[in-house]
Amino acid sequence: MHDQTMAQLALGLKRRDFSSVELTQHYLERIQRLDATYNSFITITEQQALQQAEEADRRLAQGDAPTLCGIPIAHKDLFCTDGVRTSCGSKMLDNFVPPYSATIVENLQAAGAVMLGKTNMDEFAMGSSNETSYYGPVKNPWAIDCVPGGSSGGSAAAVAAQLAAGATASDTGGSIRQPAALCGLTGLKPTYGRVSRWGMIAFASSLDQAGTLTRTAEDSALMLNAMASFDTLDSTCVDQPLEDYTANLNQPLKGLKIGVPKEYFSEGLHPETGAAVEAAIKVYEGLGASVQEISLPHSHLAVPAYYVIAPAECSANLSRFDGVRYGYRCETPKDLMDLYQRSRSEAFGDEVKRRILVGAYALSAGYYDAYYSKAQKVRRLIKQDFVDAFTQVDVIMGPTSPSPAFAFGAKTKDPVAMYLEDIYTIATNLAGLPGLSIPCGLVENKPVGLQLIGNYFAEGRLLNIAHQFQQTTDFHTRSAPGIE
Ligand code: GLN
Repeated sequence: MHDQTMAQLALGLKRRDFSSVELTQHYLERIQRLDATYNSFITITEQQALQQAEEADRRLAQGDAPTLCGIPIAHKDLFCTDGVRTSCGSKMLDNFVPPYSATIVENLQAAGAVMLGKTNMDEFAMGSSNETSYYGPVKNPWAIDCVPGGSSGGSAAAVAAQLAAGATASDTGGSIRQPAALCGLTGLKPTYGRVSRWGMIAFASSLDQAGTLTRTAEDSALMLNAMASFDTLDSTCVDQPLEDYTANLNQPLKGLKIGVPKEYFSEGLHPETGAAVEAAIKVYEGLGASVQEISLPHSHLAVPAYYVIAPAECSANLSRFDGVRYGYRCETPKDLMDLYQRSRSEAFGDEVKRRILVGAYALSAGYYDAYYSKAQKVRRLIKQDFVDAFTQVDVIMGPTSPSPAFAFGAKTKDPVAMYLEDIYTIATNLAGLPGLSIPCGLVENKPVGLQLIGNYFAEGRLLNIAHQFQQTTDFHTRSAPGIE
């Protein structure tokens, strides 16, 4: 059962080939048996899962259940879950049990999806390799000595190891698309504002967006259908009409105009990864699309601008973790300052501290204009590059990540090398655009991803373009070696 897509499982449930309880027990048994190898889950919610599965079976028996009803999924551990520990991969929140659920968690629950548990992640979603989690690194199911990508590495590894049918994830600078690429999955980051961020623990609020990690574009469409809603609890959530993201999956691509940014194929791109991406773009030509080279002239400024804006926003967002209201508190503080200092020093990891320091510096009096204001101006130029490009083309394609999954420790000593992992994904967040990664080949027996960037609110079109590729190729159907 676990090798099936969500769409296939939905059919099996409707036909009563198996019940949701059987399916859920099957996944729980796999997690118990296999996750010691991958470390993709922080918390397993066995009891709730079985209760939700029973409820799903009742709805399925009534005959009008939504498509996702009864399908077991996992949530990244930065989405608040009522009564279930939500750690954000940090010692700071190791003891945090939220009294409410994130809107997307509620939406998926209302659609009948069953929550198996909460997935491992880089601490506060800061990272590109899932090596900064308080709960230890996550292993890539394709190569156990390599990283799964980050920060949504637990969600990606869980789906790639077939321990969950799909998973939620979040993307601030690439954290859905990059692990999707490294683990051979389909990863969708919707337009900023398309999906509610209420109850999603904030990292950099002007960049964060929730999305999906699944085997196929069709599954992403099914999940997005359930997740997207206008939510007055999130003031950045846009009141756009909801659409059925599965409705246009089969639309032919004849006449589609693809733009390929020349800046995405320069130095730093692993040659075989580049070749796999170029071959994938050729597949689209075979489907009737035309390809033209475009330029996104400010691409080289995306990583530097991001590493001012994201730390600045994180330093403000993470100031709430002070040992007073919730989260970790140090033992026997001498006074209030000691309580703040030791609680934060003892509970945050090195990468989080590095970001808070950089951010507080960039926002400090005297430096604000030199760094933060400047970065915001650069951000505007990066956005304009995309606005200009979308007057000529319908979709932009290129690599998701510069190389396939790398070995543990390969980049941990050099933060800049790690930051460059997101060189192709970060601009999308700065511009607020939707992006999607689909598997398009194997290099050194490890998956690589093709990235699709669409215009604002063009998720439906992106999913259609991805689905058409998956109708003529089989990269998305391949399982990591050794998956039983
Ligand atoms: N790797 C980037 C960072 O470390 C992006 C992380 C993310 O998208 N959450 O900030």
